Amino acid sequence: MTNKDIEQLVRPNIRALLPYSTARDEYQGEIGIFLDANESPYDTGYNRYPDPHQKALKARLSEIKGVPVSQIFIGNGSDEAIDLVFRVFCRPGVDSIVAIDPSYGMYKVCADINDIALKEVALNEDFSLPVERLLEACDANTKLIFICSPNNPSGNSFPAEKIEELLKNFNGIVVLDEAYNDFSCQKSFRFRLDEFPNLIILQTLSKAYGMASLRLGIAYASEYIIRLMSMVKYPYNINGATQRIVMDILKQDISERVAIIVKERDSLIKLLENYTFIKKVYPSDSNFILVKTDDADALYSYLLEAGIIVRNRTKATLCGNCVRITVGLPEENKKLIESLSQYESKYEKGVICR
Ligand SMILES: *Cc1c(COP(=O)(O)O)cnc(C)c1O
Repeated sequence: MTNKDIEQLVRPNIRALLPYSTARDEYQGEIGIFLDANESPYDTGYNRYPDPHQKALKARLSEIKGVPVSQIFIGNGSDEAIDLVFRVFCRPGVDSIVAIDPSYGMYKVCADINDIALKEVALNEDFSLPVERLLEACDANTKLIFICSPNNPSGNSFPAEKIEELLKNFNGIVVLDEAYNDFSCQKSFRFRLDEFPNLIILQTLSKAYGMASLRLGIAYASEYIIRLMSMVKYPYNINGATQRIVMDILKQDISERVAIIVKERDSLIKLLENYTFIKKVYPSDSNFILVKTDDADALYSYLLEAGIIVRNRTKATLCGNCVRITVGLPEENKKLIESLSQYESKYEKGVICR
């Protein structure tokens, strides 16, 4: 696909938009007296509007992630980026999207809110990517395909060749959600943006970077797509406090924490495989583990009673009787295993009726 083809995918009203500009955009240089934005002149620490372009933060992320500033969008969580992709490309009531199932719930929420038809395509039984069925589900008005790798809730990554096949054969935008890439053995597609003008990658600081509360999502794409997303966003979508705090926390090196979580994950997987009430432990390339049990509701309630909350995914496609367990601190994982062992012994004695 060429950039011209991408242009044709954009909603006509968005294509025609001109960027909102603030008085602050117009000056370059040393101005010390700001009488242009009707702010309070009294310094509360927060009295000035924040940088709408998040220049400092983007420069830092560019350094860390190795992607040019012009190909980075920052949003109020990945959730803002997901919503913006809909608003840039999909005409309400006309266009449609395709997404894998099971996957992250926000794709459907945003599709419903934007009045965009969603065709969900079940993953293969082993949670692998059904490239052909995804392409078959598309029609002339299908603008986006959402995939997620490593996928939530299955935990597996899709091989790069499968994702490539989708990118090369779909005449629309592939949104690749890499929220869990920091835990993954797979190389991020963000280094291959120049090969695929129809690729939007989502990442987040909510998981490995430990900043879920600050709401900071990242999209990487061609300069053209990033410009469109930046035009449509609220001008001050990332507040000043968040910009400052994120800059500060980004000084911390996460590699040791990620290594511990990955190590804990792998030992948890081995331990989980020993329980008779656990029927399957799915391979994980992320910071959570999907587990098929003989009775997800019973296990969920038991753990809740023990003060441990996991995610019951039994109602999700291909996830009957599955729970999703996030990898915690080593001592938390130890408590989980203790509770599961208690559950197992009660199960063997027949105390828990199922
Ligand atoms: C957690 C998660 C996100 C993160 O969303 P934020 O809005 O950035 O917190 C995105 N995608 C998937 C698949 C997730 O599981």
